[in-house]
Amino acid sequence: MSEQYLLPVKDILTSSQNLNFDASAYLKTLADQFQVSCTINHPLDVSVHLEALNSGILVRGTLDGIVTLICDRCAEDYEQKIAANFESFEANPENEQDHEVNIKASEPFEPLETRIILDAKNNLVLDLGAILWEEFLLALPLKPLCSENCQGICPKCGTNLNLSSCNCKKEEGDPRLAILRNIKIKPKK
Ligand SMILES: [Zn+2]
Ligand SMILES: [Zn+2]
Repeated sequence: MSEQYLLPVKDILTSSQNLNFDASAYLKTLADQFQVSCTINHPLDVSVHLEALNSGILVRGTLDGIVTLICDRCAEDYEQKIAANFESFEANPENEQDHEVNIKASEPFEPLETRIILDAKNNLVLDLGAILWEEFLLALPLKPLCSENCQGICPKCGTNLNLSSCNCKKEEGDPRLAILRNIKIKPKK
C-alpha cells in the first residue's frame, strides 16, 4: 500500500471528483523500487474522474507523458510516449458484507478484489496510487523499440546499424537454407 493518493471514500460518495496532477515523482519512486527499466524525467499527467456507482466507485482516467526506455534491438535510450485510458470499478467492501457471508457459506471462498481498503487510521480509502501504478505498467510496451524500423546491432561487430553500416558479411535469406546454398553441385562431365 502506498501512502500517497489514498483518497477517503466518504468524500467520493458525497460528490464526484475530478483530479488532475503530475504523478511522475510517485511513479519514479515505484519504478526505482521495483527496478523497472525506465527513466522518468518528464511529467506523467493524470486526469481522473471518480464517482459513486452502486456499491462502489467508478474510476475513469487517462495517463499521458513520456518516459525514457532502452530499445530492445539497438540498446540505445529513446523517448516513449505513454497514453493510457483506463476505467475500473472498485467495489466497496463495507457494502459487500452481507454478500460476503453468503460467499463464505459456499466454498471455495474468493476474496473480493478491490482497491478500496482501510488505511492506518481504519478509514475506508480508495488506493488510487495502486491503480496508477498498475496502469503505468500496462502502458509500457512489452518490446520497447526506438522505431519500428530499428536496424539493431550487428551481432558480429556490435556496430549500431542505425548510425552506420559495417563490413560484416550479412547472412541472407532463410538461415535454414544456408546449408543448401553451400552444397556444390558438380557439373556433369
Ligand atoms: Zn533501436
Ligand atoms: Zn558488423
